[in-house]
Amino acid sequence: YKVIEGEKLRKELHNTILELKGNIRVFCRVRPLLPDEGSSTEGNIISYPTSMEASGRGIELTQNGQKHSFTYDKVFAPDTSQEEVFIEISQLVQSALDGYKVCIFAYGQTGSGKTYTMMGRPGHPGEKGLIPRSLEQIFQTKQSQQPQGWKYEMQVSMLEIYNETIRDLLATNKSSADGTPTRVENGTPGKQYTIKHDANGNTHVSDLTVVDVQSVKEVAFLLNQAASSRSVGKTQMNEQSSRSHFVFTLRIYGVNESTDQQVQGILNLIDLAGSERLSRSGSTGDRLKETQAINKSLSSLSDVIFALAKKEDHIPFRNSKLTYLLQPCLGGDSKTLMFVNISPDQASSGESLCSLRFASRVNACEIGTPRRHT
Ligand code: ADP
Repeated sequence: YKVIEGEKLRKELHNTILELKGNIRVFCRVRPLLPDEGSSTEGNIISYPTSMEASGRGIELTQNGQKHSFTYDKVFAPDTSQEEVFIEISQLVQSALDGYKVCIFAYGQTGSGKTYTMMGRPGHPGEKGLIPRSLEQIFQTKQSQQPQGWKYEMQVSMLEIYNETIRDLLATNKSSADGTPTRVENGTPGKQYTIKHDANGNTHVSDLTVVDVQSVKEVAFLLNQAASSRSVGKTQMNEQSSRSHFVFTLRIYGVNESTDQQVQGILNLIDLAGSERLSRSGSTGDRLKETQAINKSLSSLSDVIFALAKKEDHIPFRNSKLTYLLQPCLGGDSKTLMFVNISPDQASSGESLCSLRFASRVNACEIGTPRRHT
C-alpha cells in the first residue's frame, strides 16, 4: 500500500511541477575543451559554470565587446558526468512508462557533444549517454513493477531524416539468428516512407521496421545496426559530422492485470543534425542542399515549439518531416526537453551564440513565466 501511495505522490508532484512550468524545458550542456582547442579569439569569451557544484541556470557570451546573457532550466558545467545529467532527466524517462509521450532532443553545432550526450563515448561504459541509460531504467522498472501486476510490451524503431527524406535504419538487417529480436513489420531500403497519424494520435510510417524488444541487450544490438547504417558526410568542421537527424523511438504498452489499467507511452530520443551555418561548413553542391534541408527542419522545430507554447491556433507541423513525424508527441500533454550543446572553444563563439539564441527562443515559451533574454 505504501509503495502505491508513494508512487501516486511522485506522479502528482511531477505533474504539478509540469503544470507550473509548462511542458517544454531546455537544458544547456557545455562540453569540456578538447586537447586541440583553446586558441583565443580576441574579445570572444564564453562564461559558463565551471563546476557541477556551481551549475546553475545562467550562461554568458561576450562577442566583440557585447555581452549576451541567457537563462535556461539548467546549465551543466563541463565537468558534469553522464550520470549526473541522467539524474536530471530520469523522471522524464519514467513518465513514458506512466503513459506520456516524451521527446528529448540534442541541438547544437557539429562537435558540440550531441552524440556524446545521447549515446556516450564508444567503448567507455562509464560514459554511456542518455539513450542506453534510459533503456536500462525502463527495463529495470518493467521488472520491478511486475509484482504490482504491470506487464509491458516494448517496440523500437530507428530512422534518420536526411535531406527531408526518411531512411529506415533497421531495414537492411533482416538476419534473425537465435536470440535476436522478432521483427513485426518489414522495412524496405530505398523506399519512400510516408507518415500518417490516426485518430488516436498514433503515428504510422509506411513500411518502417518496428521491432519487439524484451531486453536492453536486444536494443543495444539494434542501436549498433542503426549506427552502421547512418549516413555521415564530410564537412570542413568534422569528418564524421552527422548531416541527418537520428530519431530513436520506443513505444511502451502497459497493462495492469490486477486493475485492468492500460497505458501507452512513447519515448523519442533525437540526435539532431549539426546546426552550423552555411559559410562555416564551406558548403557547395550536395553539402549546400543538405545544409539547407537541415536549416529548414531546425527552424521548423523551433517554430512549432514556439507556437505550441504560445497556444497559437495554427501549429506549423507540416513544414518539415521532423515536426510532422513528431506531431503527436509535441502537443497536448506530451513532454519535451531540448539539450542545447555548447563547445567552450572561443573559436566557436559565433555558432555558440546562434545555438544559445535558438534555445532561448524555445525556452522563452515557458507558459506563465516571462523571462528576459538579451
Ligand atoms: P556532435 O555529436 O555534436 O557532433 P560529439 O558528441 O561527437 O559532437 O562530440 C565531439 C567530441 O567531444 C567527441 O570526441 C566527444 O567524445 C567529445 N565530448 C563531447 N561532450 C563531451 C563531454 N561532456 N565530456 C567529454 N567529452 C565530450
